[in-house]
Amino acid sequence: MSCFHCSCGFAIDDADAFGDHLRLVFTPDDDAGNDGRVHHELDDGGAPPGRHACACGFSAGGIAELDDHLLIVFIPSDDTGIDGQKHLVVDPSTPGGWRVQGTPG
Ligand SMILES: [Zn+2]
Ligand SMILES: [Zn+2]
Repeated sequence: MSCFHCSCGFAIDDADAFGDHLRLVFTPDDDAGNDGRVHHELDDGGAPPGRHACACGFSAGGIAELDDHLLIVFIPSDDTGIDGQKHLVVDPSTPGGWRVQGTPG
């Protein structure tokens, strides 16, 4: 069974690949975030070694932190992606998740 499920039906074991899915469906073509600013990783925007710089000026200590930053600024309050579908992370390990999927107990 896959470890990560999205409400659109996407499911995969790999956390990085799941993050890729979320970035793919939530990152607008113009990289404009919910705050109206542009967010994308700068290739070598003067960030010190080991740090990742965002175009908005944010500096992350790791790629995971940068990914979190991008998802926070791109995911709208209604969780609807640029494809018009809702993308909510479904955690199959929680009882609530199982009930949503119709499994008894
Ligand atoms: Zn940013
Ligand atoms: Zn999805």
